[in-house]
Amino acid sequence: MSTIQITLPDGSAREVPTGTTAAQVAAQIGPRLAKDALVARADGELVDLSQPLTHNAKLAILTPKDPDAVQVFRHSAAHLLAAAVLELYPNVKLGIGPPIENGFFYEFVRDQPFTPEDLEKIEAKMHELAAKDLPNERKLIPKPEAVELYRKSNQQFKCELVEEKAVEPMVSFYTTGKFIDFCRGPHIPSTGRIKAFKLMNVAGAYWKGDEKNPQMQRIYGACFVEQKDLDDYLHKLEEAKRRDHRKLGTELDLFSIQDEAGPGLIFWHPKGALIRRQMEDWLRAELIRRGYDLVYTPHIMRLDLWKTSGHANFYRENMFGPIEVEKADYQLKPMNCPGHILIFKSHLRSYRELPVRLAELGTVYRYERSGVLHGLLRVRGFTQDDAHIFCMPDQIEKEIQDCVEFAWEVLRVFGFSEYVVELSGGDPAHPEVYAGTREDWKRAEDALTNTLNRMNVPFKYIPGEAAFYGPKIDVKLVDAIGRPWQLTTVQFDFNLPRRFNLEYVGEDGSRHQPLMVHRALWGSVERFFGVLIEHYAGAFPAWLAPVQVSVLPVSGKFEDYAKKVTQQLKDAGFRVHLDDRNEKLQAKIRDAQLEKIPYMLILGGKEAEAGTISVRHRSKGDLGPRPIDQFVSDLRQEIDSHAIQ
Ligand SMILES: [Zn+2]
Ligand SMILES: [Zn+2]
Repeated sequence: MSTIQITLPDGSAREVPTGTTAAQVAAQIGPRLAKDALVARADGELVDLSQPLTHNAKLAILTPKDPDAVQVFRHSAAHLLAAAVLELYPNVKLGIGPPIENGFFYEFVRDQPFTPEDLEKIEAKMHELAAKDLPNERKLIPKPEAVELYRKSNQQFKCELVEEKAVEPMVSFYTTGKFIDFCRGPHIPSTGRIKAFKLMNVAGAYWKGDEKNPQMQRIYGACFVEQKDLDDYLHKLEEAKRRDHRKLGTELDLFSIQDEAGPGLIFWHPKGALIRRQMEDWLRAELIRRGYDLVYTPHIMRLDLWKTSGHANFYRENMFGPIEVEKADYQLKPMNCPGHILIFKSHLRSYRELPVRLAELGTVYRYERSGVLHGLLRVRGFTQDDAHIFCMPDQIEKEIQDCVEFAWEVLRVFGFSEYVVELSGGDPAHPEVYAGTREDWKRAEDALTNTLNRMNVPFKYIPGEAAFYGPKIDVKLVDAIGRPWQLTTVQFDFNLPRRFNLEYVGEDGSRHQPLMVHRALWGSVERFFGVLIEHYAGAFPAWLAPVQVSVLPVSGKFEDYAKKVTQQLKDAGFRVHLDDRNEKLQAKIRDAQLEKIPYMLILGGKEAEAGTISVRHRSKGDLGPRPIDQFVSDLRQEIDSHAIQ
């Protein structure tokens, strides 16, 4: 009997008869592994556990711990979905059914739309089929036969796929009970383990993503190997829905987007505007403290300027069209960089002036397709907390470090504790596509790497990810429910200094080109505000809250005392609302809670008599009575320290 040698991931090797399956190898290793196994990897390729091994191979048995195996699991769930749909609606036409992040989809053509009730029925049918533990079996069919099979069953999209994709004489199919699907595989051995899934929604999509093609209905499902993981995921989705900044933005009257004005353009209502002012005041003070100069630049500038910068060429698709004035074309600015460059160039700079750090809360306009606009996160007009640093090579590491430290301060002050850092570098195989010399790039990437290392910041280096004009650092923050958000970017630029001929006079008396860095901490005020709303679920810390204290007299009898307390707090500089409506105390408390006001002061007979207040906090509940002065100094301390409860 011929044998082959199987090498396992731990380096151990075993001799097995030719034709042994991965499942049999798993069983030899141990019953636990055999039970957990979903699929195998042989010489780097994912294969079915039932596939006979015919030559020496490196073999790994994959369990739910392996992300690739989980995707195979989800793909098997997609087949199960198609099997269930075909049983219930035999006339549907099948499209494709891949695994995706957190689940799968399958697409269908059907005359009627799938309703939520249909999804319930389909889900029940999937559970029924799964419980039968139907094997997923691989079958090889000659290509003409495969085409014929789909032609006979009127599956024109599948027919198209087989004709396009199947190149070999034999085409692989998988059967799950009565269901058969053209598929490269692999799959998990049978349907029995597919239990933790939920059909989420139906979305329209064109066949192959081409709008000239027929419209398919995609049924999306969430799917995990373990029920607990599905529960966690669904819970997180619920949380995300509860925190949706668009919903909270309306409920708390923070901002709006008005159809009359146009999509993607933000109206900051008084309460949102107040929060924005707190954010901006903090930022401006911090910029000044850190040696930045604050500037303002025009919103429209000659199109020629954007030709010099190159934006009119490579950034054209993201810009609003030019505006003609006195026979000259003007351009609404999509970026602040050229404006800051003109300020830098306004006089000849000496090395003594460097680094020059120009900062602006600069409003820019970019054309985004209406389909991708999303609340405050994807908009057409937004204000970047932008800055450009012009410096000499020996200053760059300190400048980078200052930027990263500034980013840390933003995270701390706004209440984030987790972050992810990525360094995008050039592709060494294609130096010709990049602006700047190889030495420039090496020096820049070294500066970024050295700085992060010196600061003990863990980061991921991604070669080939950088824009053509320079390497960059991205900081993603992680919010209260674990979602990462791209915010801070520190970006080198070897392109604009050359295009604009930037110079400074060095210590040696001759002219040099300065290094230029773009950096934004929040990214944009709008986007960061959206992230903050979701992070805090609308319950802003006291220093940002539009109303910090609500004064609630128990009845009209205590109105005078309430007015006196309110004035005292206003004089102390707090944002106070006096709720003097003729309502029951419970109703006033409920409304203040709904508005997520941090503090409620309850004033009745006892308090008026003693000249005190009873304090209630929106999340900590009743804190008891205390003198006004004490409340004032505690709240002052909470606000000044930007405390997050
Ligand atoms: Zn498949
Ligand atoms: Zn810039």
